[in-house]
Amino acid sequence: MGGNELKYIQEAFETNWVSQYGSNIDEFEKSLENYLGNNSFVTALSSGTAAIHLALSLLNVEEGDFVICQSFTFVASANPILYLKAIPVFVDSESSTWNICPNALEDAVKYCLSKGKKPKAIITVSLYGMPFMVDEILEISRKYEIPIIEDSAEALGSKYKNQPCGTFGDLSIISFNGNKIVTTSGGGILVSRKEIDKNKALFLATQAKDNKDYYSHSEVGYNYRMSNISAGIGRGQMEVLENRIKERRKNHDFYQQIFKDKEGMDLFSAPNEDFYSNYWLNTVLIENDILSKEGLKDFFLQNNIETRCLWNPMHLQPLYNTCKFFGNDFSGTIFAKGLCLPSGTNLTDDCKNRIADVLNKL
Ligand SMILES: *Cc1c(COP(=O)(O)O)cnc(C)c1O
Repeated sequence: MGGNELKYIQEAFETNWVSQYGSNIDEFEKSLENYLGNNSFVTALSSGTAAIHLALSLLNVEEGDFVICQSFTFVASANPILYLKAIPVFVDSESSTWNICPNALEDAVKYCLSKGKKPKAIITVSLYGMPFMVDEILEISRKYEIPIIEDSAEALGSKYKNQPCGTFGDLSIISFNGNKIVTTSGGGILVSRKEIDKNKALFLATQAKDNKDYYSHSEVGYNYRMSNISAGIGRGQMEVLENRIKERRKNHDFYQQIFKDKEGMDLFSAPNEDFYSNYWLNTVLIENDILSKEGLKDFFLQNNIETRCLWNPMHLQPLYNTCKFFGNDFSGTIFAKGLCLPSGTNLTDDCKNRIADVLNKL
């Protein structure tokens, strides 16, 4: 926590706005609209997953529609496609950003067109905080007139060519779950380019009440609004966001130092200066004949240092492995070779020294 979160929660209690209305929600949304710029409209919601569900609903995704989704991601990117009984089509990643591959994406679009149905949306992800190949993907989106839903759940504070992630999609989402770079304990936002999309999202997120003086409902809605208590945490967290990004990027500098002379261990880094990552998590690929990913994981664990597997791509999940997939299984390959390294903003110098010592010992 940054320090002022409790003050804003207290404010909610004192004014008795313990509800899905109140000034914390308004101020949290405003602070994000200012932060993201580019005429963004922000709707605070109960989770990032809810934001993706609403984004698909705003694009009128219905039963039997195709929705294209990056395969290498956390399952929450894809699940809302199934909530709406639509058909997910998964696309592999390319090696420079680990995000959706433009060539495989175009193949997926052509497949859907050959089946007589244009995909309703393309869900792109900026995984681990690394922006996707924005120019190339937006070009395909424009060429085929298919809207982008940008899943920037992990990428608040990241930028592509100096423009913030969360502003590239026709609709974008950011998560404030407890594991993200800043948190509201649980929560998310939908970012839209148009005010009418925000108004529609608000309507759907609050049970789709018609504008009447009695309870009238003409379409199905959800209970997806963020609470004023959570938004109070979010207000406090926005005040320390820049500091959190700085800390995460410092962690990355540290890992660059300790991995630079380690043959067969490739720290994943931005391909060039256009890509500014918040380095939410640092990841490393083990491409080594004498050491496996499991070997590194076990050795670290013996020394009381936890590492974790990368996200397991959707086309390899029991839930999704019968879906169409386009690509060469690059994401499956990195899943087999990669690990996430300790990356919290509270990683102390002592922790870092211990990690460096253990790696050198290995
Ligand atoms: C966390 C996450 C989500 C879901 O956000 P929640 O707020 O946890 O619902 C979606 N996509 C990705 C890539 C995530 O990391």
